[in-house]
Amino acid sequence: MVSGLSWDSVQRNLAGVFPYRFDEGLRVHSWEAFRPPLQTTLGDYWSLQNEKDRRLYSLIEAFAQNNGQLGIGDARYVNVLKIILQAFTPLKYSLHRSFAHLGRQMPGDAARIACQLQSLDNLRHFQTQTHALSHFNKYFMGLDQAPHWFDHAWYLAPAKSFADDVFSAGPLETLVAVSFSFECLFSNLLNVCLMSGAARNGDASSANAGLSCQSDATRHMAFGLALLKFLAAQDPANLPILQGWIDKWFWRGFRLMSFVAMAQDYLLTLHSSSWQSHWTQYVEGAGAALFADLADLGLRRPAGWDDACDAKSHLSHQTFSGFYGHTSNTAFHTWAPADEELDWLHAEYPESFRRYYRPRFEYYREQHVAGTHWRNPATPLLCRTCHFPTWFTQPGQARRVSAVEATIDGRPEHFCSDHCRNIFETNPAKYRQSRLATDAVLAGAGSASVYEAAQLGFDVFAATLAAAKIRPGVDGGEFTDSADDRHFRDWAGGRAAREGRV
Ligand code: ZN
Repeated sequence: MVSGLSWDSVQRNLAGVFPYRFDEGLRVHSWEAFRPPLQTTLGDYWSLQNEKDRRLYSLIEAFAQNNGQLGIGDARYVNVLKIILQAFTPLKYSLHRSFAHLGRQMPGDAARIACQLQSLDNLRHFQTQTHALSHFNKYFMGLDQAPHWFDHAWYLAPAKSFADDVFSAGPLETLVAVSFSFECLFSNLLNVCLMSGAARNGDASSANAGLSCQSDATRHMAFGLALLKFLAAQDPANLPILQGWIDKWFWRGFRLMSFVAMAQDYLLTLHSSSWQSHWTQYVEGAGAALFADLADLGLRRPAGWDDACDAKSHLSHQTFSGFYGHTSNTAFHTWAPADEELDWLHAEYPESFRRYYRPRFEYYREQHVAGTHWRNPATPLLCRTCHFPTWFTQPGQARRVSAVEATIDGRPEHFCSDHCRNIFETNPAKYRQSRLATDAVLAGAGSASVYEAAQLGFDVFAATLAAAKIRPGVDGGEFTDSADDRHFRDWAGGRAAREGRV
């Protein structure tokens, strides 16, 4: 019931039937030999997903009826949800579209059906995450414009750019990018590690949505890995192409994980374990076994592997510190961490945090106590490939910012790293089409007309934020005394009074 469903074109012109597939250069001699693991019939698929949804929605409903938003303990936690809903939930929707496209373009019946199911899974994840988080949208700022922010907010461009890069890749590259690289190496960090933190912070609604997603990811991983092995075994000429995709998508996925690193170490307010410990277990540990297995086929670890592992003790601190400086221009809150939070980070990162980051955060704290919040007045220099500001440091040199400038086809380009430069150079015409948010700001226009922009006193930053529908000081900015902070304190006070505790 799940195989032998293929058909041939009457004209036998397969390149005309599957045009995108044949642009990629991979040689596949027999699709008949490909049998993905965990194959399922459509009947079983629908009944299983229905059962998962039924359980999840009853949990979401119970959370809402019990006023679960009051049980989270600390309103700062909601900023984890803002990052998920702004960056990762729209990414799921984009992946739903990418895989729907693959469900049409993929040669080989088994792979085509697996893509169709993965498209449905991603649509389900988009919906369940949106529903699980919708309860918080009634009570907190920074959640109501997520799809618009995904498309327009400068700081979400790394996620948007990742989604667009997947969407415009060929069918087999998309599978290596998502089903292999992202699902096998990174999805646990988001759906399991961060969502365990959500449960610990009292948010059963989001935590269960994450775990429900990860149950599908297991099938995606098995599919991605089986397809990669199949393609590698089909022809030795495929290996350099596959290795190039592994190098590229590992680095793009790693950069995207900066959001998760920040959420894990800083936005979660009740901590259990650090980003570094999760990276060591889920990426270094699991990845070593994965690539040892693939070495027999002639594939090696991604080119950026050592640099990404070197960054595990720096990534979350650099990302949160970077966003703290630009917090007025985002739709999530940041704050100067309190002493006990700094002590926890110090214990988790005994070397790097003490040497490089604790003094910086203590300075932020001093400024905060004095009533002047430290802000970065500069417009960030964005990486042409991943769209993150160039605020990360060089491997092994945590005091040297990593910024690469290169002249490519006669034009100056800037990158966060050599890896992003290498990705750009595989297809400059493609990456040059992306819109860099800071280019628009520096050009003086934002979204305003040339006439408006030429007026005396025109505020280009305000115009850019207005176009992105970010309300400074409401959706994001300093947390203390924000609307989220004030409302939550009022509710907590009201509840304490009702329960006779004050
Ligand atoms: Zn980059």
